[in-house]
This record gives sequence, C-alpha cells and structure tokens, in this order.
Amino acid sequence: MNLWQLFQKLKPFVRPYKLLVIATLLLTLVGSLTAQVNALTLQYAVDSINKLVEAGKGLDAGWHILITITAILLGKEIINAIVQFGQKFYGEKLRILVSQDLAQDIIEKFLKYRLAFFNQDNNQAGKLQTRIDRGIGSLTRLVQIFFIDILPLFTSALVALGLMFYANVYVGLVALSIVPIYFWLTYKQAQKLGSWRRNLRDGREKKSQGILGIINSITVIKSFNRESIESEKQLKLQRELTHNQMQTRQTSFVFDGVKTFIEQIGIVLIIILTAYFVLDGQMSIGMIMYHVLLFNNVSAPIRSLHRIYDEINDAMIYSESFFQISEADHEIETSGTEKPQVQGRFELKNVDFTYPNGFKALHDINMSIRPNKITALVGLSGAGKSTLISLLDKFFEPDSGQILLDGVNIQDMDTQYLRDHIGLVLQKNHIFQGSIFENIRYGKTDASLQDVQEAARKASIHEQILQLPQGYDADALMLSGGQQQRIALARMFLKNPPIIFLDEPTASLDAIASEQIKQSLDQIKQGRTVIMISHSLSQIIDADYTYVMKEGRIVEHGEHDALYHQEGTYKEIFDAMAKSLNIEKIARTFEDDAEEETHS
Ligand code: ADP
Repeated sequence: MNLWQLFQKLKPFVRPYKLLVIATLLLTLVGSLTAQVNALTLQYAVDSINKLVEAGKGLDAGWHILITITAILLGKEIINAIVQFGQKFYGEKLRILVSQDLAQDIIEKFLKYRLAFFNQDNNQAGKLQTRIDRGIGSLTRLVQIFFIDILPLFTSALVALGLMFYANVYVGLVALSIVPIYFWLTYKQAQKLGSWRRNLRDGREKKSQGILGIINSITVIKSFNRESIESEKQLKLQRELTHNQMQTRQTSFVFDGVKTFIEQIGIVLIIILTAYFVLDGQMSIGMIMYHVLLFNNVSAPIRSLHRIYDEINDAMIYSESFFQISEADHEIETSGTEKPQVQGRFELKNVDFTYPNGFKALHDINMSIRPNKITALVGLSGAGKSTLISLLDKFFEPDSGQILLDGVNIQDMDTQYLRDHIGLVLQKNHIFQGSIFENIRYGKTDASLQDVQEAARKASIHEQILQLPQGYDADALMLSGGQQQRIALARMFLKNPPIIFLDEPTASLDAIASEQIKQSLDQIKQGRTVIMISHSLSQIIDADYTYVMKEGRIVEHGEHDALYHQEGTYKEIFDAMAKSLNIEKIARTFEDDAEEETHS
C-alpha cells in the first residue's frame, strides 16, 4: 500500500469531520503567517535603529520604534497562542474522533464475520488484537502527523521560502538547494534505521514475552531447578537488545550530526551572500537577520522529517494488516431469509466438512435427528462430534451435502432466526465480566428480575445466589466452575429454545457438581430436541437414540441395547467407560454393604 492509497482509505473516516479539518487548515494558514513575523520585525528594528544611529540620533528619537516592536511581537504572541491552542485542540479532537470511529468500525465488521475467520492462524485472539491496536494507533498517528505536525511546519516553510525568493532570488536558491540534500540524508537515515528498529521491536516483544513466560511457569522452573537457564536465556535477549539499541543510537547521532552541519553551512552561505548584497548596497543590514530567521523556518520541518518518515512507514505496515481485517467482506456470515416453524427435526445428507487449515473433519455424514427426543453423539475424543454441532449451529458451512431443519436447508434460513431457536451448552461456558444478574439476562435482554430468578431456580442455583452477600449483583466471575456452569444453564432456561446442543456440559466438573447439574439438565431436556455429547455413562444411557462417530465418520447408530449387542465401537467405548469407573468393584462395595445390612 502506498501513501496515496492509505489516504484514500482514511478519507471516509475523516469526511464526517470536514468542518474540523477546515478549521484546522485555516488556523494552520494563520499560524504559518505569524511564524514569519519575528523575521520581519527584527529586520525592521535593525534597519530603523541603524538609520537613527547613522543620523546621530539617540534614544529620544527611537522610542516609537521600541513601542512598535513591542506591540507587534506581543500581539503576534497572543495570536500565536490562540492559534496554537486551536490547532492542537482541533487536530487532537480530529485524531481522537477518527480513532474512535476506526475502532468501532472494525468491531462492527468482525462481529459479522463467520467463525472460520477467527479460526485462521493469524487471527487468533492475541494476534488479532495486536493487529487492530497497532493499526488504529498508527493510522491515528498519521492523522495527527498530518494535521498537527507536518502541515503547519511545511506551510510555514513554504511561506518563508517564498519570502526569501521575493527578497532575493539567489538567497532563495541557496535556501532551496539545502532541501533536497536534507531529504536525501533523511531517506538514508530512515533506511539505515529501519532494520534496526524492526529488530528493536522484535527484541522488546520477545523480552516481555520472556518475562511473562517466567512468571507463568515459575513453579515448573523452580521444581526443576532451572533458574540459571532461564536467567541465561534472558541475558542473551537482553544483550541482543542492547546491541540493537546502541546501533540505532549510533546511526541516529551520526546522521543528526551531518544534518546539523549541512544546516549550519546553509546559514553561513546565507549570511555571506546577504552580507555581500549589503556591502554592495543592494540590501539593508537588517536583511541578514531577516534571512537567517526565515531560513530557520525552512529547515525546521525537514529537521523532523525522519521521525515523520518513520511514522508514515509504520502506518503503512500496520494499516495494511488493519485494513485486511476491516475489509474482509468475503468473511461476512451469509444468511438466508427463510423462517420456518421450528420443530427440531434435523436431516444430514452426505455432509463433508474441512476446516480452514485443510483438515477434513467430517466424511459423508448421514443422520436423522428426531424432534423432542434426546440424541447422543458418542465417540473418542477427536472423532468430530463438536465439529458436527458447529455445523448444525451454522458456525461453519459444509463442503458438500445438505443439512435440513424441518425440511429447510439451514443455508437458506435466516441465521439469527436459526440461532434464536438453538441453545448451546459447552464444556466450559463463557461467563462475562459483570454481575450474576447480567450474565443470566444475556439469554434474554429484556427479562425481568423475576424471570431471571425463575431461570436460576430451574438451574438449581437460586438458593446459592441468595446466600451470597451481594446476591444477584455479585460478580459472576468469582463463582466456582460448577456454579458458573449453572449460571450458563440458567441463561439457557431464560432463552428457552426448542433445540438444545449439549457438548460435554459436565466434563470439567467434579462428581457432586455434575450430579447437581444433571438435575438441571434433566429439566432442560424435557419437551425439546436435544443433541448431546457426553462421556458420562448415565447420560448416554438416557438418550433415545445414539450415533457413534469414529475419525469423522458415523460408524454405528441405534438405541442403546441394540448398539451394545452389535459388539462394535459403541460396545468398546461403553465398556472402556465402565472399566475406567471400576464399576465391578463399585458394584461389589454396594453388594457387600447390602449383605452386611441384611445380616445385622
Ligand atoms: P470431538 O468433539 O469428537 O472430540 P472435534 O470435533 O473437536 O472432536 O474435532 C474433530 C477433529 O477436527 C480433530 O482431529 C480436531 O483436531 C480437528 N479440529 C477441531 N477444531 C479444529 C479447527 N478449528 N481447525 C482445524 N481442525 C480442527
């Protein structure tokens, strides 16, 4: 992306603030004129005083000159203060507003993207956030550089240059000839610094990651006595960083020195040239001062050129990946328009599915899920059960085949309508930052406190919430895993969807919490279409029908008894689960217990 394309892309974000831009530009113009007042005033002062001195007149005759100069300089400073304030304030306001719009724009955009977008390797949460933050940061800095930094400086430089040419073409030419040398030096400096700066940035990131890594794995480091190895790793990073820092500074100082030297040569040339014209009688002595001060205005912006060059470079690098995110229109979720009456009968016909990374997770899936029944998906970890559920929720699209809900292809259905009718309970449900009340109400944003409490009661968590000092206003993130899971179930009760997908809802919980949740789940299952993934024997036995998956394929299906007697994958998994529970020994314990009771 080049600078022009970048400005084109930024334009829509700056357009709403046209008035602000015009105000800033006007102030810039005024500022660039007042910046020349010092030069004019000093020239006037030197020439007028010189004339008086030559005529042998004293202080009495000179008062009016001093009063005039004071008035002009004071007046100019007052105007300047106002202009600078306005310019900085409006420029900053523009920057803040543009930054706010850019951030909002990208959030609105990626909320619409399909799940596959977030699954891509360079879109993982941390990376995405860094790309967005850096993009917004550098783009808004670009706006700031343009309106607050460069524009005023360059306008003032142009006016100063114009005045120099107007006074004398040769002086103007000398001033002008310094500019390309300066540009060239700046370009070289930025080029040289570019790679060092990139190394520096990488080094800093690695260093902070390293420190985080140490903190996160401090227990392992200590238990293996690896303190000295970790410290050496850091030392190596630190040395590289120091080397890069020194190189960066060295390059900067060399170039800064050369640039100052060139600038001073410019000043000397201008003094000599103007002095020649003065001696030749073509100019007044005040012009020396005049030209030196004007030249100062010409060289000021190019002195900060290399910083500006760096910032623009950064902006171009980071904004590219920013706009890649904000302009990924092909990632926007598609939605059909159909809104059929939902009963909950799913039909899957020859469904194949491949993840964005190329892994084919489902092969030729054919299924029929009956409404108002519990269907279990059974299979070893990695068999494709969760993938299947994501497809039913339209998080991903199948490569081929059809998924019908009550006879309508879900691709033709309104996506929001479909998801309104589906409740998803995962192994670990997300609890948002906020109160318990807000977290439950996420299921139905207009629910009353009574509705929320009713849902909590159904999820068997109401009593526990009441025992908390802050009740429903307590922070939901402070609850235990099992309690959080029940908050998520209450959220589901509030949403009250006819179809429910349960993806190992009790897997991360201990036995007692699981048992409590089972009661809530039994409640939730009533009168709904439920698809359930579970590794709990009791839950699988409860299912009306079971599909068994292996390596992305359906290998068996049927009711529990029939499946068990097929002597296939289902039996294998079922027996393994029973074995891991040590059911025989447990049964014996219960039997012994019962015997003892009958004897006594
Ligand atoms: P299950 O729920 O049966 O344990 P999954 O549906 O989670 O299995 O995973 C099925 C296969 O798909 C696994 O091999 C897994 O590694 C792969 N997989 C899951 N999610 C992704 C993803 N986002 N990108 C690529 N492969 C994935």
